[in-house]
Amino acid sequence: MNELNLSKSKYCRGKMCNKMYWMDKYKPEENKSKVSPSTFENGQKVGELAKGLFGKYEDVEFNKDLNIMIDTTNELLKNKPNIITEASFKFDNNFCSVDILKNDEDGVEIYEVKSSTEEKDIYLDDISYQYYILSNLGFNVKKACLVHVNKNYIKHGEIDIKQFFIIEDETEVVKSMQDDVKTNIEKLNEFMKKYDADTEPDVDIGMQCETPYKAKCDYWEYCTKNLPKPNVFDVHTLKASQKYKLYYEGKVSFEDLLDEKMSNRFKEQVEFEVNNLEPKIDKAAIKELLQSLKYPLYFIDFESFMHVIPEYDGTHAYQQLCFQYSLHIVDHEGAEVEHKEFLADSDDDNFMRHFAESMLNDMPKSGTMIVYNRVFEETRIKELAEMFPDLTDRLLKLLDNLVDFMVPFRRRAYYTKEMEGSYSIKYVLPAIYPDDPELNYHNLPLVHHGTEASETFLAMKNMTSEEREKARQGLLVYCGLDTYALVKLWEKFKEVVEE
Ligand code: SF4
Repeated sequence: MNELNLSKSKYCRGKMCNKMYWMDKYKPEENKSKVSPSTFENGQKVGELAKGLFGKYEDVEFNKDLNIMIDTTNELLKNKPNIITEASFKFDNNFCSVDILKNDEDGVEIYEVKSSTEEKDIYLDDISYQYYILSNLGFNVKKACLVHVNKNYIKHGEIDIKQFFIIEDETEVVKSMQDDVKTNIEKLNEFMKKYDADTEPDVDIGMQCETPYKAKCDYWEYCTKNLPKPNVFDVHTLKASQKYKLYYEGKVSFEDLLDEKMSNRFKEQVEFEVNNLEPKIDKAAIKELLQSLKYPLYFIDFESFMHVIPEYDGTHAYQQLCFQYSLHIVDHEGAEVEHKEFLADSDDDNFMRHFAESMLNDMPKSGTMIVYNRVFEETRIKELAEMFPDLTDRLLKLLDNLVDFMVPFRRRAYYTKEMEGSYSIKYVLPAIYPDDPELNYHNLPLVHHGTEASETFLAMKNMTSEEREKARQGLLVYCGLDTYALVKLWEKFKEVVEE
């Protein structure tokens, strides 16, 4: 008798790391997952859309009492051939709901829907687990497939779901994983018998904490709470595999790493922090950067959001859609700094066009466009240029003289210990202006980072006019600080080359 009550997600998490399963059960309050509401909502919308992939379907409604879902499924299974969504099954206390089940006369087909644009190993675990349950219940599982989003599908009019989704047949690989599923379930059972609420498992951190989502596990803070600070995992951009290698060798604190053979870049971070070194500034490189600037100087920053299911014609899944910019302008040497900005009306379906037109209007002369991390703004401008052929030439012209203020920090032409190996503006700005409350993102009233900006903009559609006004102010102040920060960096560059 299986003592676990597994589900698809519990099986996948437990397979990744047994301790994660234990934490989910006994210490869920330590989960520091930061899934944004829009990510969750997007996933749900994709699931709903995919239900219609094979035409008419019958849905098994969610019920906390899983037995009700199983009973409903059993009734619907009698009406074959039919399509059942969220069809629910249990074998030996292992429960699953199949996103889409094709229930044919001669067997069934499983379709697992993901809002991702590509196949990942963890999805195969998910499908294998469902295959395991259904085949053990005696179903002839003819096919087991992954359904994911097609990033190359461009919306024109109604969404064509046959084009929007890609179906990958995973039957053979899933069949080959069946022995592993059985073993994993058994191992997880053994593990949970051994460790109860009062007996915390002694599982060391490892590569399982990074995979499969290339982000740290939700319990990372808890599992590393006894490590010294800073530690090897704070060494910026060192590969995860190298970090764990050093960790297993007992080289954990920055002091432990001082004599370690690492590339200069990583070593520099460690040495600066342990030895409290003075800032390093390559004046020649900064001077060269300043000399490349031509007036007028346009300090600009964009804010954007994305939808998984494209809502606007000419866009694709996960496309970043710009709704706001802030622009600080210095027209000529010695001129006062001016500020211009654009924030779309959340009810305006043509906001990208208005964004592009306003930007061209606000930057009439050929000067220098200054950004932080050019890839983002450059890509967005190229996308707009493609969407609006009559604006293409003028938009692309903006890229003629694009200067990225991130470069000197990325190349460590300007480095201080407070940057902690990072060149993100969120580290660079407080490192250079440590005590300036005006430049402190934490002091902002409503919006403090890009994700909050897009969440706020998307939420505005459903706000009262008073709430909207508050949200608009929050967005304007946040984006304004992003470009004011660029102006302050420019001033600092001028100051350091003159010293
Ligand atoms: S942080 Fe690592 S060891 Fe801790 S629960 Fe997560 S995956 Fe397991």
